[in-house]
Amino acid sequence: MSTDTNATPMPSDVDRATYDFIVCGGGTAGCVVARRLAEDPSVRVLLLEAGGDERVPAVGDSRVWMSNIGSERDWQFRAEPSATLNGRTPPLPMGKVLGGGSSVNGLIWARGHKNDFDSWAEAAGDPGWRYEAVLDLYKRAEDWDGPANARLRGVGGPVYVTLPKDPVPVAHALMEAAAAVGIPAVDDLNAETMESESGCGIPNVTVRDGNVRVSMANAYLRPVMAQSNLTVLLGARVERVRLDGRRAVGVDYVHDGGQRCAFASAEIVLSAGAIHTPKILMFSGIGDERQLKAFGIPVAHHLPGVGQNFQDHILVAGCVWEYRSPEPPRNNSAEFTFFAKSDPSLPTPDLQPVLEECAFGSEITGPRFGLPADRASAWTLAPGLVQPTSRGHVALTGNRASDPVAIHANFLGTAQDVQALVRCIELCREIGNAPALRPFVKRELMPGPLRGAELETFLRDAAGTYFHQTCTAKMGRDAMSVVDGTLRVYGIEGLRIADGSIMPTITTGNTMAPCVLIGEKAADLIRGAHRI
Ligand SMILES: Cc1cc2nc3c(=O)[nH]c(=O)nc-3n(C[C@H](O)[C@H](O)[C@H](O)COP(=O)(O)OP(=O)(O)OC[C@H]3O[C@@H](n4cnc5c(N)ncnc54)[C@H](O)[C@@H]3O)c2cc1C
Repeated sequence: MSTDTNATPMPSDVDRATYDFIVCGGGTAGCVVARRLAEDPSVRVLLLEAGGDERVPAVGDSRVWMSNIGSERDWQFRAEPSATLNGRTPPLPMGKVLGGGSSVNGLIWARGHKNDFDSWAEAAGDPGWRYEAVLDLYKRAEDWDGPANARLRGVGGPVYVTLPKDPVPVAHALMEAAAAVGIPAVDDLNAETMESESGCGIPNVTVRDGNVRVSMANAYLRPVMAQSNLTVLLGARVERVRLDGRRAVGVDYVHDGGQRCAFASAEIVLSAGAIHTPKILMFSGIGDERQLKAFGIPVAHHLPGVGQNFQDHILVAGCVWEYRSPEPPRNNSAEFTFFAKSDPSLPTPDLQPVLEECAFGSEITGPRFGLPADRASAWTLAPGLVQPTSRGHVALTGNRASDPVAIHANFLGTAQDVQALVRCIELCREIGNAPALRPFVKRELMPGPLRGAELETFLRDAAGTYFHQTCTAKMGRDAMSVVDGTLRVYGIEGLRIADGSIMPTITTGNTMAPCVLIGEKAADLIRGAHRI
């Protein structure tokens, strides 16, 4: 195999090693892909993860998941300032640790709506992404310990999923109040609700033995990590893919303070998440040629969609009530959610508020409304938009791999998103102020009965990420698509993407489970292509 590349000269002092497959990024999807490929003992797999070991208390204990935000296990990205958020620059946390988001997240397992996958299949022109097809992959991934449902739920898979034990009483009262406004209360939000118009309940969680996190590192990777055909390097930051003409042959990465290089005889898989997957592509010369040329990066393949189509769910901080008698948070501190439509004519639910078992305000709304310093003295129903129409993008800021990318999130960039979230705030207030909640409410703290321009200002001061950054290297068939239905990067051989960046449109609900699904699907496609 030739290892000459047209992009980067080979430094003379690099370490070299050769594998069959290199997976770049050991996050949610990357752990799944590496595990599934390494199941064949004859296949040599290298997994490169920029973060460190996930076996620390802040990861292992599901109750303290929020303490990872802002820590060394968070990339600590921020959105660029934007007028749509009154000039704010909200943080965009993402996991930087083995297991990625699945090691730091809020542990909700939400598979997405039937319509999400049917529309992906349409975008890809590939029925293998339809809901009926992905259901089989979900069932293979799951070890569901909840109400049995042979059609929809799987048992015996790597990912233990259950219902939180003994949720806070306010969660049950919220179910009663939501049901009273026509949102049916269900036992399992991942069952028929994901084929219907609405539903409320206690979310599924990836927690075992009360408070032990199930991450994709411990579910998928740890059981095979001692195998000699799998090499996992932590603290290994991938900079670019080496190309031999139009073929991906290796990666340049930094490890132990040194520049390294590894080669793959079969394929390279990018699983670095929705911010760094497009960054690696662009630094490899794969992206919009005008942008690459502007930064002096040699163009290997013009692919204008790289870094475009950024999507995230929007979480609003928040609708807050002071507890009549405070209850300490339990389990993952988020034991109630609902799916509903802001407009009955929409095909898919677009709203997904979530209970936060504490006072939850933004850097503007918290002080303005005088939220209590003792956060546990209040509870929040945080409005959430899960079918945003705003689109952002990720752009280069320099031509060194250490230069960060600029994230133009464009939250609330459309009137439709603003309208949907105004409706969502109203709905959350209606539910939170309903008779069923009176035993849990001393008084409403935020936002109160704001209307019109005042409510919109509150929204723009309060909106931020739901932590679900996706869609920046979308799967599809149009000129802005980056991968095809088999997750292969257009125009480049031997290079696939398997992470949240391939979503053409973001799913209805939290995004960890869909990223597991993407990992399972990618592994099937790769194994099929190489007959392994
Ligand atoms: C605080 C928080 C709370 C969340 N709560 C929930 C929740 O409750 N439920 C839910 O479903 N989802 C939740 N999410 C979102 C969910 O975890 C993510 O959508 C999902 O993990 C994304 O998976 P991924 O494979 O696309 O990327 P990631 O899991 O982010 O994996 C990318 C991996 O690549 C690594 N990496 C990045 N750049 C490089 C590089 N250059 N070289 C090598 N490695 C690199 C990263 O360190 C990371 O490990 C949350 C996320 C966060 C951050």
